[in-house]
Amino acid sequence: MRTSQYILATLKETPSDAEIVSHQLMLRAGMIRRVASGLYTWLPSGLRVLRKVENIVREEMDKAGAIEMLMPVIQPADLWEESGRWDQFGPELVRFTDRHNRTFALGPTHEEVITDFVRKEINSYKQLPITLYQVQTKVRDERRPRFGVMRAREFTMKDAYSFHLSDECLDATYQAMHKAYCNIFERLNLDYRPVIADTGSIGGSVSHEFHVLAESGEDAIAFSDASDYAANIEKAEALAPSEARPAPSKELKAFPTPDAKTIDELKKHYGVKPHRGVKTLIVYGAPNEEGQRGLVALVVRGDHDLNELKAEKHPLVDAPLEMAKEADIIAAVGAKPGSLGPVGLSMPIIIDRTANVMADFVAGANKDDEHYSGINWDRDVTDYLVADLRNIVEGDASPCGQGNLQIKRGIEVGHIFQLGTKYSEAMKAGVLSETGKNQIMTMGCYGIGVSRIVAAAIEQNNDQYGIIWPQPIAPFDIAIVPMNMHKSHRIPDIANNLYEGLKAAGLEVLFDDRKERPGVMFNDMELLGVPFTLVIGERNLDENKVELKNRRTGEKLMIDIDTAVEAIK
Ligand code: ATP
Ligand code: MG
Ligand code: MG
Ligand code: MG
Repeated sequence: MRTSQYILATLKETPSDAEIVSHQLMLRAGMIRRVASGLYTWLPSGLRVLRKVENIVREEMDKAGAIEMLMPVIQPADLWEESGRWDQFGPELVRFTDRHNRTFALGPTHEEVITDFVRKEINSYKQLPITLYQVQTKVRDERRPRFGVMRAREFTMKDAYSFHLSDECLDATYQAMHKAYCNIFERLNLDYRPVIADTGSIGGSVSHEFHVLAESGEDAIAFSDASDYAANIEKAEALAPSEARPAPSKELKAFPTPDAKTIDELKKHYGVKPHRGVKTLIVYGAPNEEGQRGLVALVVRGDHDLNELKAEKHPLVDAPLEMAKEADIIAAVGAKPGSLGPVGLSMPIIIDRTANVMADFVAGANKDDEHYSGINWDRDVTDYLVADLRNIVEGDASPCGQGNLQIKRGIEVGHIFQLGTKYSEAMKAGVLSETGKNQIMTMGCYGIGVSRIVAAAIEQNNDQYGIIWPQPIAPFDIAIVPMNMHKSHRIPDIANNLYEGLKAAGLEVLFDDRKERPGVMFNDMELLGVPFTLVIGERNLDENKVELKNRRTGEKLMIDIDTAVEAIK
């Protein structure tokens, strides 16, 4: 590919509305452009990466014995009514009526359509087990689309569905899919963890999520420091020994973020009586010196405008518990998870400690619209915020009985479920069994966020110059940067020959043939994260050499022009 015939579309400035590094770099490297909230156009460089992720997923699915097909995005409401989800799914499901007054949904997932297909096409136990998959656009009207393609309203998912006549058979396929997912994330070179998960609205019993570890992750996962045990926080909480700490005296209950501008407004919202001389501890997430999210705390008296507090600089406090003990009212304002910019004030938290017991606080999670009552304060504020104020804190005994729990942030990139008969029963999907009776099938479903993986990979692979692609998903294998080609009589031929030679050797090559200054070209190739750059310059040509630069290590290697293709491939 010649840059002169390509859309590089790189940007010098970091777009101000992009909060996390992957979103910033996907825009700057010319991978995506926003069309509307949660809706993106994939530019050629982005699409190349997306397709590579897709193909790795495909190869591992095929290897595991799954069969590819393609179902429509538009799904008739009847099927959703049959499964019962038309009423359950809520506003994330995009619904519409056609000109004939028939109702449809834009598929956020495809259990209904696949179950309908299988009940019509698969009639006998002899055709089972079977695993079918697709790579398809999904539509979800996310309450808060953000972080670019990480949480989009339209995104690419690989979803697979398996059908069986026994739980043992389902379990065998589930294990095979689990293994296939591990293969996928290993091939993608990502630091990931499979974790035990809740089954949520999809239903079923056994479930694992796959998380790519990243500070910007919206989920918190807990894992043992002494075994393979790992769970998302909700699940770890459900399984953790209850004696570890006193249970919340009230049920944890989520309620919407209050729309408060000042500390007094927050107090009013929570029914906290304003009394004189009361100190308020403000704790909020903010970038620390390294630009990572940390905690900042200060004790204030009287009322304050929350927006003004954000402009000030406060000392980083690792364990604000001591300060918390002193204060009577605690207000914590969480930065948007993953935010590297100024402190976001979208998630104010206030904790009423007017009673002398350290329990029964009202608090907000480090998440929009999630606040809880009945919190115990008998532990570290930091842990609360890190763990989204759930009941698990770092250092708790692991529910597996071995070691203690560590808590990290993760990006959910995959999710697999043993569904059982939830859909097949509701939709009467049965086959003739060996004994000649109609038997309801048992099902599994297996999703991977293909487009989200692109962003997650960048979260783990970047530096101040841009993206550093893991080789298997890089948009190009190598870039050729001829310096001042247009002023040289030697370089054009050499560059062209190397370009043709590398292509013939099977490499995907980006040939920067623009009339740009070398610095501009280098910057663009680094921003785009091409794993290797071949630099052709007049000076080295005298010795018949070109320079090969490794994007990840920065290493530079001088290689002979005549053997360059051989050496690189
Ligand atoms: P999340 O908890 O992030 O909202 P989910 O649990 O709703 O995700 P699933 O229904 O399990 O998602 O879908 C399977 C996979 O699809 C997820 O593991 C994730 O990788 C991806 N995914 C889900 N929602 C989105 C989205 N809005 N944008 C991009 N990818 C998504
Ligand atoms: Mg979701
Ligand atoms: Mg989830
Ligand atoms: Mg999920």
